[in-house]
Amino acid sequence: MYQEPAKPNYDNDINKLVSYYQKAYKEVLTLIVDMKNIDAADNIYQRQASVLRQIEVILTQLNTKNKAWCTEMVRQAFLDGQASALLTAGLATTLAEAVQDVQFSMLSRNTVDALINDTYKDLLKATNNTSEQVKKLVQQVTSEVLRVRAMQNYGLNTIRRDIARELTNKAVANRLEKDGFIGIVDKAGRRWSTKRYSDMIARTKLSQAHVQGVRVAGIERGKDLAVISTHNAPDECSGFEGMIISMNGLTEGLLSYQEIYNSNKCFHPNCQHKVHLINLDLFPAALKEKHSRKVAALPHKPLKARIKPLDKIKVPSKETVKNHSEQLEMLI
Ligand SMILES: [Zn+2]
Repeated sequence: MYQEPAKPNYDNDINKLVSYYQKAYKEVLTLIVDMKNIDAADNIYQRQASVLRQIEVILTQLNTKNKAWCTEMVRQAFLDGQASALLTAGLATTLAEAVQDVQFSMLSRNTVDALINDTYKDLLKATNNTSEQVKKLVQQVTSEVLRVRAMQNYGLNTIRRDIARELTNKAVANRLEKDGFIGIVDKAGRRWSTKRYSDMIARTKLSQAHVQGVRVAGIERGKDLAVISTHNAPDECSGFEGMIISMNGLTEGLLSYQEIYNSNKCFHPNCQHKVHLINLDLFPAALKEKHSRKVAALPHKPLKARIKPLDKIKVPSKETVKNHSEQLEMLI
């Protein structure tokens, strides 16, 4: 009998990733503040060069930690997805049994490796962006410090005060946060702080890893059907909650995971929806009715037109689904 499993919670792990950026931010801030407060007799260019080198080291360490995080967490979310799939499809009776039955095949390994690389690449984008922006800020601060010194010598105190205002510790901290630690600038020109960006990437990629775990477990057991999880989402996704879908596009008359993903109506960035593998024969009648109600209410006509009533659906054979796995392995 199908029962929706508890939603996996990765909040602590996601916070850990975000904290790596916060730690790097603090270290970089200390360096810049020290640099701008140097004695007039000191050579600021020498100091600037040393600060830039140290920033490079901090950001390289950040990348190393990010890579380790991706490797561990993406794999974990994938394994959680696999175990959850065995449970929801009635292929294991307890979670402990499901965890034990999980296979880590070549297909799993290739899928996980691709997901890890993908996640790390997105995080790397943020670090590279930050590196560039922070270096710019260091150069700006250097030239401002030099200008303040020059104004002081000429007695131009009003201008000096204006620049000095930008150079208080607090102002520098603000500038570093708003202009330096930028993950990305999106298509609409919005700046995403590294904190918001890394949080979004982590949440989105762990969800995807979970989905892929479910999908691969299904392929290996010859099962293609899944149901979209329900948590009464406030956004457009809620229209898909409880809908039965085809994980690999092998079941005619059901929407596939990929086409829903491509439509952007569900499984968007930060989306919390999961998929649960099912065995249609064991799926409760009440939940089949829920699926039919959701389909009837779906406002997206082109998607809706693709869906057939459940009693007209021909579930693909185990062999068809397993053969799909061989094609995938060749593709990867
Ligand atoms: Zn969603």
